[in-house]
Amino acid sequence: MLTDTHTHLYDSAFANEGTNGPADAVRRALNAGVDRLVFPNVDLTTIEPMKRLAAQFPQNITMAIGLHPTEVNPESLEDDIERIQKELSGETNYVAVGEVGMDLYWSKEYEDAQKQAFDRQCTMAENAGLPVIIHCREALEQTLEVLKSHPNARVVFHSFGGSVEDVRKIRALIPDAYFGINGIVTFKNSGLREVLPEIGINRILLETDSPYLAPVPKRGKRNESAYLKYIAECVAGALELTCEEVADRTSKNASEFLGI
Ligand SMILES: [Zn+2]
Repeated sequence: MLTDTHTHLYDSAFANEGTNGPADAVRRALNAGVDRLVFPNVDLTTIEPMKRLAAQFPQNITMAIGLHPTEVNPESLEDDIERIQKELSGETNYVAVGEVGMDLYWSKEYEDAQKQAFDRQCTMAENAGLPVIIHCREALEQTLEVLKSHPNARVVFHSFGGSVEDVRKIRALIPDAYFGINGIVTFKNSGLREVLPEIGINRILLETDSPYLAPVPKRGKRNESAYLKYIAECVAGALELTCEEVADRTSKNASEFLGI
């Protein structure tokens, strides 16, 4: 059994298959042995579709709530953060705060606002006793800068594609950090396979990040959670483990990290 710790099957990319589109994507995942899925939120418009799809599979799907760094806008920041806080303290059961973090790949314009949003959402996680799902793109220094004020945060660096050096930098600050490994690891020119031994199987969480980053042999297509097995196979190869060992250990990691 596999756990997809980061998937957006509620995304509009699955809506064009009709009303069953997203639910069918979940069923294909279940048929492929992916029995637990974690939905991280993106922005205020995704909260409702995310909750609707999760409610159809209460045994299999859990959710995280947060404002994605690329959705941070200084003008609406106060209102947006307030809405996220309201969700978190409401009736819905969330297993983590996410996805949150810093993304300076697309634009550096809102760097300060991103920092502020990330910092405040880390505080929310602390107060709620929840782990944090971090999105960090071209912003490792800035991300670690914020995390310095949250030394007890439990975190996963989702969609990790960094170097051995990056792993060490992160661990110098947060020794128990997890690393979310997705389709990037299967890409031909990816150096990530050589970084996996440094991370070690006990700190790896598997994820697809559907609908993005489809693994080889589906690269370039719309990604979905049913493809998680390709990532597990690649991780197994890189660490000289069996697929079963990878599935078991990473599912246990997900249970420990997210309390699921
Ligand atoms: Zn994501």
